[in-house]
Amino acid sequence: MRAVKTAEPDSTIREEIEIESTEQGVNWTQSKTTEEILAAQQQDDTIAIILKLKSENQPKPKWEDISLESKQFKTYWAQWDRLRVINGNVKQLILPLCWHDQVLKMLHDDPVAGHFGIHRTLARVSSRFYWAGYKETIEIWCKCCEICSARKGPTRHPRGHMKQYLVGAPLERVAIDILGPLPETKNKNKYILVITDYFSRWAESYPMPDQEAETVTRIFVGEFIARFGLPRQVHRSRETIRVSSIAIIMSNI
Ligand SMILES: [Zn+2]
Repeated sequence: MRAVKTAEPDSTIREEIEIESTEQGVNWTQSKTTEEILAAQQQDDTIAIILKLKSENQPKPKWEDISLESKQFKTYWAQWDRLRVINGNVKQLILPLCWHDQVLKMLHDDPVAGHFGIHRTLARVSSRFYWAGYKETIEIWCKCCEICSARKGPTRHPRGHMKQYLVGAPLERVAIDILGPLPETKNKNKYILVITDYFSRWAESYPMPDQEAETVTRIFVGEFIARFGLPRQVHRSRETIRVSSIAIIMSNI
């Protein structure tokens, strides 16, 4: 999944530039229509303004006119000439706020992404996407990842109010998360249920046609628990699924 390109023929190993696979990002971008992307970008207040000015072929605004705008706006403004409105494949999509979580889950949390550190996650994201402040977003995302921090053991840096879960054995705590919607497969699956063990970081992924609680429960009980046993704690990673409804359904099984 990862190619390594050497910067110079005589460069040392430290100078190697890692080119991360962009396959997931490409597939994800291609699953969106131009209309969907446009609508999402228009929902993002800052991108919407840039998009409007760019679509109208407006010249770069003067500093006096934008000096009161947000930090994000100024970041885009500084890159004015590099931003283009394109209908078709792009190298880096300006990712609106509503999709940050989806892309970060895909490129950090899922079993293929494998919970790599900040540097690798930055490389994976920036190979296909860009948004003002993306470095900060990624740093926070990785630092707040419970699975990453559980594996690291006692924290070296205080992490504010973040609760840290240390685990000493497999199945003490597992995280369940849903990725998607992704491009529909032949079997009509559009989502991936990812169940990750905090201790071993072993991740199981299961395709799903929808993200209904019934579907999640059926797979969690019928596939994961049947094979690995009952975890002591189940955590909804990134709080994306309603555990309460899963618990209610599980109690009916
Ligand atoms: Zn992580």
